[in-house]
Amino acid sequence: MEKVLSGIRPTGNLHLGNYFGAVKSFVKLQDDFECFFFIADWHSLTTHPKPENLRESVKTILSEYLACGIDPEKAAIYVQSDLKQVLELYLYFNMNAYLGELERVTSFKEKVRKQPDNVNAGLLTYPTLMAADILIHKADYVPVGKDQEQNMEMARLFARRFNRIYEVEYFAEPKSFHLSDKAVKVPGLDGSGKMGKSEGNAIYLVDDEATIRKKVMRAVTDSGPVEPNQPKPEPIQNLFTIMEIVSDRSTFDYFNDKYNACEIRYGDMKKQLAADINAFCAPIRERILDLRGNDDYLARVARLGAEKAEASAEKTLREVRQIIGFRN
Ligand code: AMP
Repeated sequence: MEKVLSGIRPTGNLHLGNYFGAVKSFVKLQDDFECFFFIADWHSLTTHPKPENLRESVKTILSEYLACGIDPEKAAIYVQSDLKQVLELYLYFNMNAYLGELERVTSFKEKVRKQPDNVNAGLLTYPTLMAADILIHKADYVPVGKDQEQNMEMARLFARRFNRIYEVEYFAEPKSFHLSDKAVKVPGLDGSGKMGKSEGNAIYLVDDEATIRKKVMRAVTDSGPVEPNQPKPEPIQNLFTIMEIVSDRSTFDYFNDKYNACEIRYGDMKKQLAADINAFCAPIRERILDLRGNDDYLARVARLGAEKAEASAEKTLREVRQIIGFRN
C-alpha cells in the first residue's frame, strides 16, 4: 500500500477551514493509504514555546484530530518527538545539506524577516528535518499547501543527493499531494479572504453555540441587492459559500432564491447559518471535550502511533546505516 505522510502543527485549535480544507481529506485517506500523521512538536521549538504550552498544545491537537475521525487503528498518529529515529536521519541529511541552499529557502528568509532576533539553526535546517520526517517512512505522498512546495523540492533534492553520494537507488522522491485541488477553500466571516487563525475570523470546531452565533451574527453584510439575479459582493458570497458547505442543499437554495429575488433578510440567513454550523460542530465538539479530558486514552493513542511509526522508521534506518557504512 502506498504511504501518505502529513505533519500537523501543534498550534491553536482547528477551525472550519482546517476541517474542510485538510482534515476531512485526511480522514478519507486513511482507508486507501498507509497513513502517518505526526504532531510536529520538534519543528515548533524554532519559536521557543513554554514547556506547559507545548504539552497542552500537543494534547489539544491530538484530541481534535481524533474527534474529527482520524482512527488510530487505521492510521499511525504520533508525536514527532516520540520517534527518535528521525533525529538520526536528520543528522545524516544535515551532513549533505549546504549552507547556501538552506539560506535561499523562501520560508527561511521570511522567518529571518519576521523574527530577526531568533534566527536559530533549527529554522535553517527546517527542510532537512522535514525531509527526515518524510523519508524515514519512505512516504510516497505528502499533502501540502503551495507554501510547502519548496520544502518538498528540498526533500526530493536530499533524497536524490543521498542516492548519488552512496551510489544507490534507495530513496524514491516523495510526491506532493495538493489538497487544494480537491478540497474547498473556506472563506472568513469578515468580508474578505479565507478563514484563518491569524486572520482572526475563524470559527473553531470547539466553539460553543453562543460563540458561533455571536461570530456569525457579526459577519459583514450590505443593504441587500436592488436588482434581481446580480452577482454577489464578496462578503455576501462568503456567507453563501459557508452555507453551501455546512447546510442542506434546500436551505442554500432557499436563501439563494431569496437573494436573487431581492427578498433576502440577512438576519434570518445568519440565524440559519449559525444553527447549521452548530449542528455540524456539536458532535465533534463533544468528542473533543471528552477526549481532551482523558489523558490516559490520549497517551495510549500516542503510544500506539509511535509503535507503528517506529517499526517503519527502524527498517529505514537499519538500511540507511548499512548504506552509509555503519554496522547495525
Ligand atoms: P494552518 O492552520 O493555516 O496551518 O492550515 C493548515 C491546513 O489547513 C492548510 O494547509 C490548509 O490545507 C487548511 N486550511 C487552513 N485554512 C483554510 C481555509 N480557510 N480553507 C481551506 N483550507 C484551509
